[in-house]
Amino acid sequence: MTLLESLTELTDDSDVVLYECRICGVKFSEDVDECRECGFEEVAYYEW
Ligand SMILES: [Zn+2]
Repeated sequence: MTLLESLTELTDDSDVVLYECRICGVKFSEDVDECRECGFEEVAYYEW
């Protein structure tokens, strides 16, 4: 397997999920209902 193939496979297999507070910008790698820093309830959700 070439390096490029393994990179592509990595990208396909892993859905990277990220949560980011819209107020203070703190990022969380797990599901949070509200920001643990400021308590704001609208935490942005990113997946790619
Ligand atoms: Zn916050």
